[in-house]
Amino acid sequence: MTLLLTQMTDSKELTEIPVPHTPANLAPEDASPTGQLEPTEALMEELRAKSEELETATPQEIIAWAAQRFGTKLTMGTAFGPEGCTILHMLSEIAPETPVFNLDTGYQFKETLELRDRIAEKTGIEVALLKPETTVEEYEKLHNGPLYITNPTQCCADRKLSVLKKAAVGMHAWISAIRRDQSPDRARAPIVGWDKKFNLVKINPLANVDKSWVWGMITKHDIPYNPLHDQGYTSIGCWPCTRAVMAGEDERAGRWSGTEKTECGLHTLDEDD
Ligand code: SF4
Repeated sequence: MTLLLTQMTDSKELTEIPVPHTPANLAPEDASPTGQLEPTEALMEELRAKSEELETATPQEIIAWAAQRFGTKLTMGTAFGPEGCTILHMLSEIAPETPVFNLDTGYQFKETLELRDRIAEKTGIEVALLKPETTVEEYEKLHNGPLYITNPTQCCADRKLSVLKKAAVGMHAWISAIRRDQSPDRARAPIVGWDKKFNLVKINPLANVDKSWVWGMITKHDIPYNPLHDQGYTSIGCWPCTRAVMAGEDERAGRWSGTEKTECGLHTLDEDD
């Protein structure tokens, strides 16, 4: 199936970008016998060059490239933040068959889960809720209480990272919704790179945009968003680890507030990345 993208963007008009959503166009040497992508030298070089080339591209152009390059092996993860909702809107116009998942830890706000249905209604994209092996009740019983209090890093590893590792099997690339200006660690994210943690190519179409671009898209296209944002929650994760922020605070100050933790681990880069 081929779509023609003719959307106006804030910076320029895109005209008729063909996006064939076909099986992944990979060199045979890039895929292992299990179908997983191998980080060959040739692939790494391709990603480096493409990332540099896409530095000046619009998010729509980056998504269109990813859909064309990885076809049915492309996936996206979202926690339904404003950035993710914006990408879902763009995906619905560019490559609506792309499978999208949410890591449903069991601790998400009800507003977040309701947003999944509002997004489906608006964009036609049904985000799959991927759950850990244990329910919240089983998990807390196993650990004599909630680990988000005593060991949030382990809790995120068990209820987010291990779930994504399983979801990554058989896929070649994933789209994330991070922006470089969100944190020093995210500032180092390339547009396209190799994600060692999950053995996937990672595409960050919003790396170069800022918060006002995202909210501009939401307003312009009437994209559904989490109503908690109107109550001071600038960044929303699981309810036990999220609070509203005060005026002047960093937009991620409400995540794991009062602890050293700033990321769940999905988007942290290794030192040698
Ligand atoms: S954000 Fe909090 S509740 Fe959610 S998985 Fe991480 S530690 Fe657990």
